[in-house]
Amino acid sequence: MSEATLQLVAGDPARHALVVGRVVLVLGGEPVTVEMAVPPDLVGFEDILPILRGVTDFVVDRGVEEAQAAGRTVSCRAGCGACCRQLVPISQAEARALAALIAAMPKPRRDEIRRRFDAALQALQACGLTAEIDAARQDVSESTVDLGMRYFRQGVACPFLEDEACSIHPDRPLSCRQYLVTSPAANCASPTANTIEMVALPARPSRALLLADSEDAGVSWMPLVYALRYVEQVPSRVPARTAPDILRDVFSRFQSADHTDRGRSE
Ligand code: SF4
Repeated sequence: MSEATLQLVAGDPARHALVVGRVVLVLGGEPVTVEMAVPPDLVGFEDILPILRGVTDFVVDRGVEEAQAAGRTVSCRAGCGACCRQLVPISQAEARALAALIAAMPKPRRDEIRRRFDAALQALQACGLTAEIDAARQDVSESTVDLGMRYFRQGVACPFLEDEACSIHPDRPLSCRQYLVTSPAANCASPTANTIEMVALPARPSRALLLADSEDAGVSWMPLVYALRYVEQVPSRVPARTAPDILRDVFSRFQSADHTDRGRSE
């Protein structure tokens, strides 16, 4: 097999000349060349998400190919949104990206999505889960599998779920991109710890981003439904790093064994 090459762009070439670079990642034992064009200025982690989305999609494709080679079939289908009622862990950079996406929507839709975020938070507060989530965010060494199961049982849908499909598919968080199963779709609607068979991936970019971004910003992971509230509380951060520096940091954590990305029942 010839060596894979990804060509990814973050930033708008019409706004400024992008900096070009390349890195070779070893994913599942396979060298993958990633050629990147990124902004030249100091940036936030949210500014390099297009690169991480591209790498994540590659990693997921490889995972699916390996599952298929082993005779397993991915059972995720449009119209099955069971996993979109799970606790989806995101980083503060992904919260900022989602808030910006919503801010750019036309008003009626923007208002509707914001209303759904408010309703989701109120539902979690009403059942007492926000206190548990906040405690779990303080101690990332603790497993969140039990918390994730209690969250799922509340049936709080992601504010972006429409007709059981993701309405922001190209912009969905890394954790959502990585979540694919080969167990029967029905199992996802009433999951227990051992009835979900995930597609194994050669790396977990969502976890690498969570680790690097959390350490940099001093902000722990958060459930997706906290995104707007977080950005209201912390509207901006002063960019302090270059895109190549941030990407080196994230890529270096691809094989990390840390468990910060366990909000979902993996
Ligand atoms: S962002 Fe999309 S894929 Fe992720 S939980 Fe929400 S609806 Fe589902």
